[in-house]
Amino acid sequence: MPKIDLHSHSTVSDGTFTPAELVLHAAAQGVEVMALTDHDDLGGLEEARIAAAGQGIRLVNGVEISVSWNGRTIHIVGLDVDPSHAGLLAGLESIRAGRLIRAAAIAAELDKVGISGSLEGARAYARERILSRTHFARFLVANGHARDVKAVFRNFLVKGKPGHVSHRWADMAEAIGWIRSSGGIAVLAHPGRYDIGKTTLHALFAAFREAGGEAVEVVSGSHTPDQYRLFAEFAKHYGLLSSAGSDYHGPAHNYFDMGRLPPLPEGCVPVWERLNF
Ligand code: AMP
Ligand code: MN
Ligand code: MN
Ligand code: MN
Repeated sequence: MPKIDLHSHSTVSDGTFTPAELVLHAAAQGVEVMALTDHDDLGGLEEARIAAAGQGIRLVNGVEISVSWNGRTIHIVGLDVDPSHAGLLAGLESIRAGRLIRAAAIAAELDKVGISGSLEGARAYARERILSRTHFARFLVANGHARDVKAVFRNFLVKGKPGHVSHRWADMAEAIGWIRSSGGIAVLAHPGRYDIGKTTLHALFAAFREAGGEAVEVVSGSHTPDQYRLFAEFAKHYGLLSSAGSDYHGPAHNYFDMGRLPPLPEGCVPVWERLNF
């Protein structure tokens, strides 16, 4: 089986490698099939495609869409999407517009605790169109407000902490619709990261399935081995295909590196059986 990694980020969203650098890194790590899945943006796929051809890597066109479900933020990865699909492009554009409004609100919240200039500060870390909390986090670290990005997400920008803003992302069914109408497969990203109990997890899987979702990240850089097994069970129970992705954001992040994912647990039906590569 080829070495596969179906979740990664470039400077087009909140990763630190450009799309071409990311592909080179993946190749160096022995990855043979990869998906670039930037948050709410398809802008890196063309550069990644060219770099991948040069490296003999098979590139899957991907995206990670921010959605709201039941008052929570959930991420849905689209795999094998059509990067020129008008409906998908328009949907992502509307999410990016919402991000800019949220960023101004985050900066206003940080102002209240005496941290000024964070909007410009975050912008300085953003390379393209996406403005993310990660960029605010890098600004806060650089200005001595936190030791590292992880500490930022404990002490700032999250519920009950300075800089938190609640935000309405895309509707889950709508986002799955964009993915599917562009020919893609909707994958529930890193379900182990949502910090929700079993009952709510079941409600999430049922709603995802009902809305046309077809796969789930069983193996993820943010899952523990226990969670690989747990979500393999969920995949089986809900009749979902299984995906695997590092969620790599670059060497400076405490994420899993590319090319180091374990195989899917026994009994999982791999999502790549449905991918064209
Ligand atoms: P946003 O989509 O702008 O709300 O930003 C969310 C991003 O923040 C995620 O995609 C992660 O890259 C990053 N993030 C969230 N929580 C953490 C954490 N605990 N440690 C490091 N990065 C995080
Ligand atoms: Mn991210
Ligand atoms: Mn995510
Ligand atoms: Mn991600």
